[in-house]
Amino acid sequence: MTIDAERKMQFLFALRSKGVTNSAVLNAMEKIDRLPFIRHYFTDRAYEDMPLPIACGQTISQPSVVGLMTQALDISPRDKVLEVGTGSGYQAAILSQLARRVYTVDRHARLVREAREVFDELGLVNITAFAADGSFGLPDQAPFDRIIVTAAAEDPPGPLLAQLKIGGIMVVPVGQSDAVQSLIKVTRTETGYDYDELRAVRFVPLLEGMGKES
Ligand code: SAH
Repeated sequence: MTIDAERKMQFLFALRSKGVTNSAVLNAMEKIDRLPFIRHYFTDRAYEDMPLPIACGQTISQPSVVGLMTQALDISPRDKVLEVGTGSGYQAAILSQLARRVYTVDRHARLVREAREVFDELGLVNITAFAADGSFGLPDQAPFDRIIVTAAAEDPPGPLLAQLKIGGIMVVPVGQSDAVQSLIKVTRTETGYDYDELRAVRFVPLLEGMGKES
């Protein structure tokens, strides 16, 4: 076995041992290579289960957290998904394997530009990336079957709750940015919203307005 194949096997083993057991999610994570999303930073760590720094002072999430959040979304092939916090584009690429269409937004135009380049390179044609403040969602494309927020909010943002279809699921880390946060799964019902606390996580904060170009 080549070193790369062995590293990938260890990568998938680590995902399973952290509770990523859904076979569709594991297949997507086997297919989408994390390396191109890391660009020139820390490329030797691409297959380790750790968050890594990307441009604009942000991070690409830990693969097992990407897997667990994706699994919690319970995506079906007809779903239209919104991701708030494109970052490297890795999470969006995983979503693109499971959903019909993925919209992803980031407040840093540079990250959106770079993520689009990788989506093009990999031929991921069902992802649309926008530079925008995602706390307002994407009213033009709403409602969504699934919403994933990959930055920590103090509360699930109201506009995102409103843009979720009935029966839809949103996964969002909630809590102060400098503390441990809780990953919350919100399900919209006919009459309101159900909240489930999934696990402790640590994300960069969801910030208002657009990021400065760097
Ligand atoms: N999902 C990413 C990791 C996201 S890191 C990946 O797979 O690599 C969190 C991202 O959320 C950062 O890129 C940050 O710029 C973005 N972000 C923070 N607040 C935001 C907001 N209000 N609207 C859109 N993006 C936001």
